[in-house]
Amino acid sequence: MKRVFSGIQPTGHLTLGNYLGAMRRWAEVDQYRADALFCVVDLHALTVEHDPARVRRLSRQAATLLLASGLDPERCTLFVQSHVDEHTRLSYLLECVAADGEMRRMIQYREKSEREAARGRSVRLSLLTYPVLMAADILAYGTDEVPVGEDQAQHVELARNLAARFNQRYGSTFTVPRAAVPKVAARVMNLQTPTSKMGKSDASGLGVVYLLDEPDVVRKKVLRAVTDSGRDVVYDRVERPGVANLLDILAACTGGDPEALSTGYASYGALKKDTAEAVVEVLRPLQQRHRELCADPGAVDAVLRAGAERARSMARPTVDAAYRAIGL
Ligand code: ADP
Repeated sequence: MKRVFSGIQPTGHLTLGNYLGAMRRWAEVDQYRADALFCVVDLHALTVEHDPARVRRLSRQAATLLLASGLDPERCTLFVQSHVDEHTRLSYLLECVAADGEMRRMIQYREKSEREAARGRSVRLSLLTYPVLMAADILAYGTDEVPVGEDQAQHVELARNLAARFNQRYGSTFTVPRAAVPKVAARVMNLQTPTSKMGKSDASGLGVVYLLDEPDVVRKKVLRAVTDSGRDVVYDRVERPGVANLLDILAACTGGDPEALSTGYASYGALKKDTAEAVVEVLRPLQQRHRELCADPGAVDAVLRAGAERARSMARPTVDAAYRAIGL
């Protein structure tokens, strides 16, 4: 059976982008077709300025939302990164095969380090090395496939390169993984600035639909989405990013094709209204299940404890093999 691994950072409240680009596939497809592991990558949240108590709260919330989205702990392994030491143990070995230059070329590093600097904060060394830790997250489990949104494809490429380089230098140790990027909603864009992605750490929440937003808040955000100066509804991601984003979201929520859907609308207003309702309907069962899970926090803890134990037993042989391959 194929091994699948993916993760989510507790750096903010989870968004519709996280759900349509990644989480939904994990719950609806991946956990059934593969031996799948899903991880709340809390160590990655320490790479930028943070409040530790908030990271802890958001980790729990992310795990609860993953269960609410349909991950079944009987079918997959759900755990928190910092509970399994193998990730950092392996990360160091991979740092020794990674090159300074290739790390500095990472797009997210460049964007996030500029953002930290613009806020007058010092850039943490871990922000530069975080894709190596991510490679360790993936490689520790002999992962074949990493289902991610488009924004993470470059980091998965790095994991591939590090695996291949390590294997070449020290002998065959790691499976070389590949990214699996969805066809629809691979990159959900911010509703207010549709040329940048909908990210959970955006300062203004107006362009971001959070998974726990009330229906009326979702409606307000979608109805106020920035569109383009034209009037006809056409699917063009370059010339009409705002409208294309709404069509992508509607298609992802209803299972349609964005281009085909565009022909059914004569105005932006009607498209926004249908998109808003489609998002509300997609989020409704998830929010209901989230409320139920919050009533029993002990059950979520138990899932995470068992998940960490299982993950540890899966990662240890591979990480031990990596140390042995080097002769340590
Ligand atoms: P974020 O950018 O929200 O911090 P993470 O790094 O935690 O996201 O990524 C979790 C998963 O969600 C990844 O697979 C990522 O590719 C996906 N993802 C995040 N934002 C979007 C988006 N706007 N559109 C599609 N997928 C996304």
